[in-house]
Amino acid sequence: MTKLAIPKEVLIVADGLENAGFEAYLVGGCVRDIVLEKKPKDWDLTTNATPEEIQKIFPETFYENTYGTVGVVGESEDPTLKVIEVTPYRKEGTYSDARRPDMVEFGVSLEEDLKRRDFTVNAIAYRPKTGEMVDLHGGHEDIKNRLIRAVGNPNTRFQEDALRMMRAVRLSAELGFAIEQETAEALHTNASQLEKISKERIRDEFVRILETATPMQAIFLSQKLGLLKYIAPDLELGIGIGQNQAHSFDVFEHLVRAMQHAADKEWTTTIRLAALFHDVGKPETRRWSDEKKDWTFHGHEVIGARITKKALRELKFPNEVIEIAVKLVRWHMFFSDPDKITLSAVRRMIVNVGQENIWDLLNLRICDRIGTGRPKEQPFRFRKYKSMVDEALRDPISVAMLAVDGEMVIKILGEKPGPRVGWILHALLEEVLEDPKKNTKEYLEEKVKVLSLMEDSALKEMGEEGKKAREKAEEKELEEIRAKYHV
Ligand code: ATP
Ligand code: MG
Repeated sequence: MTKLAIPKEVLIVADGLENAGFEAYLVGGCVRDIVLEKKPKDWDLTTNATPEEIQKIFPETFYENTYGTVGVVGESEDPTLKVIEVTPYRKEGTYSDARRPDMVEFGVSLEEDLKRRDFTVNAIAYRPKTGEMVDLHGGHEDIKNRLIRAVGNPNTRFQEDALRMMRAVRLSAELGFAIEQETAEALHTNASQLEKISKERIRDEFVRILETATPMQAIFLSQKLGLLKYIAPDLELGIGIGQNQAHSFDVFEHLVRAMQHAADKEWTTTIRLAALFHDVGKPETRRWSDEKKDWTFHGHEVIGARITKKALRELKFPNEVIEIAVKLVRWHMFFSDPDKITLSAVRRMIVNVGQENIWDLLNLRICDRIGTGRPKEQPFRFRKYKSMVDEALRDPISVAMLAVDGEMVIKILGEKPGPRVGWILHALLEEVLEDPKKNTKEYLEEKVKVLSLMEDSALKEMGEEGKKAREKAEEKELEEIRAKYHV
């Protein structure tokens, strides 16, 4: 076996252990990723040294958790290599609660350590010193066949720690592997054990599933295997709920497809969540309309926002994520007929959803559209809408942009407020539009003094010129926005 490309930071720690007379093996995800020729996310070492012995070898360490993991701090600038985690060989006792072992024993053997690992692809060990691979569970074979298979009896393993079932689905989505038959059957049998797992751990795996490139398959698979009802039960209410004539899919499939589009576009987890939930209020609001001869879903976005909030709270998502996702669901039905929509309607929408979320709302609309099976992503009306949002968001060109205001002018003039103040401000605006560098307090204050010496009629004329210049500049900016969106 040729030696694999391992970063020197990792080798330093492995050598440190070996030179002190211990064994050091890389294990878990990093070995799997190396075999797959992928860049590992982190590097885990396992050893027959105890936590105390590990700490004695290296100058800077910290003792991480009850699993005996010691963080060895190195000199790397790369954050993924700054701390190398070293865990003593572990053996786990019985599991009586489907969550965590009743006891953990250190310093047993590598064989015992590999046995307690979740999947065969994660249970290969590699010893950098010798280049030896220890693969006692057929990990290489399963990597070759692209299979996720439990180490040992899958039923027992899932009963020990039910989160492994979600890890199986997540890994299968991350790696593009299938779940091996017997493992999949055990998953189906034991799905309800997920109830015993903390919502935080479920959420973390759920997020990792959403963040893969193929969350659609993973969510369908979770549903088929019976896990989804312990993750987000509300989504399942959409199964078999037919929609109106504009839709080819039931509510559930529509949601999952919309979410997949957000993943295809590499949009944020929050948009993926919003897409996955945006029509979750449809089953509850579906009514038959004799008049339309079709189903209606009035108010589904209001009900949907409520369900989304409850579901994401249940999963202990951070408040800022919940708040944005709920807003997006609540306002996803915005009206966007370019012939009828007004700028003030667009402004209202921006106020509703928040300026910082308006582009996400438009992205959600794209997901919604693609999720119905309609192909075109940015038809004319959509570009028009974007252009209106840009227009609504920009600060209009006005005397308010000046570094001096009316009150300052009055103070400098030592006069009473009157039309001269407005003329002066507009004269200043014309200069600033011509040369934005002049928009400083110092320059404009001097300029006010000069202008204040002018006769009313001459000043008025300058003011009128300024107003015209403002209108022209406004017109030009709006034209640029429209050109940008080809509308
Ligand atoms: P990645 O780092 O790419 O997310 P990983 O496989 O390294 O994937 P980690 O969560 O970092 O996943 O776990 C490291 C290793 O610890 C795994 O490869 C696996 O061998 C083992 N492991 C993690 N969680 C469990 C679990 N719940 N049950 C059994 N073994 C586990
Ligand atoms: Mg890892």
